[in-house]
Amino acid sequence: MPGNKAVVYKGAGQVDVESIDYPDFVIKDGPGVNPANVGRQCHHGVIVKCVATNICGSDQHMVRGRTTAPVGLVLGHEITGEVVETGRDVEFVKVGDLVSVPFNIACGRCRNCKAGKTGICLNVNPGLAGSAYGYVDMGGWVGGQAEYVLVPYADWNVLVFPDREQALAKIRDLTMLSDIFPTGFHGCVTAGVGVGSTVYIAGAGPVGLAAAAGARLLGAAVVIVGDLNGERLAQARSFGCETADLTKAGPKEQIEQILGVPEVDCAVDAVGFEAHGHGAEAGAERPATVLNTAMDVTAAGGAIGIPGLYVTGDPGASDKAAQEGSLSIRIGLGWAKSLSFATGQCPVMRYHRQLMQAILHDRVRIADAVDATVLPLDEAPRGYREFDAGAARKFVLDPHGMVPAAA
Ligand code: NAD
Ligand code: ZN
Ligand code: ZN
Repeated sequence: MPGNKAVVYKGAGQVDVESIDYPDFVIKDGPGVNPANVGRQCHHGVIVKCVATNICGSDQHMVRGRTTAPVGLVLGHEITGEVVETGRDVEFVKVGDLVSVPFNIACGRCRNCKAGKTGICLNVNPGLAGSAYGYVDMGGWVGGQAEYVLVPYADWNVLVFPDREQALAKIRDLTMLSDIFPTGFHGCVTAGVGVGSTVYIAGAGPVGLAAAAGARLLGAAVVIVGDLNGERLAQARSFGCETADLTKAGPKEQIEQILGVPEVDCAVDAVGFEAHGHGAEAGAERPATVLNTAMDVTAAGGAIGIPGLYVTGDPGASDKAAQEGSLSIRIGLGWAKSLSFATGQCPVMRYHRQLMQAILHDRVRIADAVDATVLPLDEAPRGYREFDAGAARKFVLDPHGMVPAAA
């Protein structure tokens, strides 16, 4: 049996690469594992050799110490890899298949899965609806920033790439199917983006950039990306987006300069609860600012997609209400404008096949849009550091040296 190295959370601001157990078809006790999940048999699972496994802004919330993630948690929910072993109940996925693994773990049997709501599966997390690999309060499934990982309910969860060689050649793009590309796209779909839409996307991190690429794929006329990070805004401009530099002013004035009116049809929050104030409030954390700004700039009758993460507990929040996830949201404005809101985990499975086809047939260059940057697994701590410092990059870990350098 091969060894297994993985990225482990060691406390606020620190991750290390350590040896962990090789995966088995049963859940063992460990940091973050829900006691009700210990001993759970997973013969419906496969063991995946991780070919590409990305660092996400969602991981950063934990690594910055802004969640209740326990020390020792094995990180990583953005997994693409090769099936090396199948459990005895797996019927269709085969050893050798190259697969994209949705970050949501879903059973395929509960009422939510049957309705396509795989981000809130009822059977994989004894704590609450919805689950993910390597994530706090998500049931305790071992993370995939590792050489090998267990993927449960494999026939249901994984997307098998049609041709291994073709997929390996585009793996820097295809690795975005496990989370950020569907997530950004879902933000746009739920915001009602279509042909000719004007769109404001808050956040030029990988999710915001993926949303921007998604909006363009959906036919948006103008995509305006707002952030306080100049390098990330330049990245958005590199594939045709307009940008709003929020260190200078709020987005409303800048939207007016671009569109001639101070509002857009659709807005996407790709920031979440660690949002910073802008204009006069630049620098300070303002967890409700993106939601309130989105309501302000979205035309009456419009919709706001909210992939940005909001939490039920934030030990690092500055006030008591925010520590419990209560934010000062101007819901009266949203109501008066008849706005619609969509929150929650992206149901990746709803989009990953279509977006895979768009990648394979050159309709979108998502790796370039987010500047996919490949690192060996051992250099994960550097990836986390640079990403936390605001690098305009999406870090892709390559545990087995199988990812070709940028095309
Ligand atoms: P990130 O931290 O790299 O990017 C967030 C960006 O927002 C940063 O560039 C930051 O400068 C910017 N920002 C801060 N305050 C802002 C403001 N007021 N207005 C505009 N921009 C502002 O993270 P990411 O990887 O791009 O992820 C974005 C969010 O999406 C995170 O909250 C992450 O947890 C969440 N997420 C959700 C899902 C889902 O399924 N819903 C999936 C993946 C990620
Ligand atoms: Zn992610
Ligand atoms: Zn389910």
